[in-house]
Amino acid sequence: MIPKILVIAGSDPSSGAGIQADIKTAFANKTYAATAITCMTAQNTKAVFAIQNSSIDFLKQQIEVLFADISFDAIKIGMLGTTEIINCVGDLLKKNARKIPIILDSVMVATSGDILLEEKAVESFISRLAPLAYIITPNIFEAEILAKMKIKNLNDMKLAATKIKAFGAKNVLIKGGHLNFKNEKIISILLDEKNNFHEISNKKIKGENFHGTGCTLASAIACNIAKKMNIETATRKANQYVYRSIVKNLKIGKGSLVLGH
Ligand code: PLP
Repeated sequence: MIPKILVIAGSDPSSGAGIQADIKTAFANKTYAATAITCMTAQNTKAVFAIQNSSIDFLKQQIEVLFADISFDAIKIGMLGTTEIINCVGDLLKKNARKIPIILDSVMVATSGDILLEEKAVESFISRLAPLAYIITPNIFEAEILAKMKIKNLNDMKLAATKIKAFGAKNVLIKGGHLNFKNEKIISILLDEKNNFHEISNKKIKGENFHGTGCTLASAIACNIAKKMNIETATRKANQYVYRSIVKNLKIGKGSLVLGH
């Protein structure tokens, strides 16, 4: 049986990020993705121009009909946008997904600088969703917001991971892509269930901005968890998948490059 993941996330019509990147990642990693759409963006490779949220009733219906029909091996959560959507998703997951590992991507700001989560929603994100997460995957900027501290080096990343884990997520991955490390490396920090730190590193690929890396990484972790890998292997393999997809990047528009899955 093919491993099945449920993706609850937003749509990116340029297909670099969001649900579209999640589906490509699931397909390339030999899993099946069902998708419940939280919001639609009007977006190209340069910027996000507008956001249209699904109504709460309709989002609820999308998720409920999927749970009534399909048993999922993992759930990936991407862009949520508002407090109401966070609360709706939190309630549904609490009711229907107690035993399914949840990969929670703390989507807040796009590479383009556009805001993807309203500021006042951060507290609900922390109180309603973080405790349900098997792993939460902030980048440096998101980790700074969640942990309420500046992050400049590996020690700061470890401290922030500890603070974020205290919200209730079993594992925390802080992605190092936005920090400058020595030797042209990128180092991410995984803090696991047993409170062990793991450094996950790869060579930095220079060049323009890449669009959709965060969505793709969280989805690839969800695929690997659905295939029953342990968290460290799932995260390392997902990191390698993103690296390979960045190497195969595509210039499809005038803005950021997209990943070649
Ligand atoms: N659009 C949607 C719907 C997203 O979910 C995300 C990120 O999760 C983005 C845009 C931004 O992606 P990036 O920061 O990689 O450009």
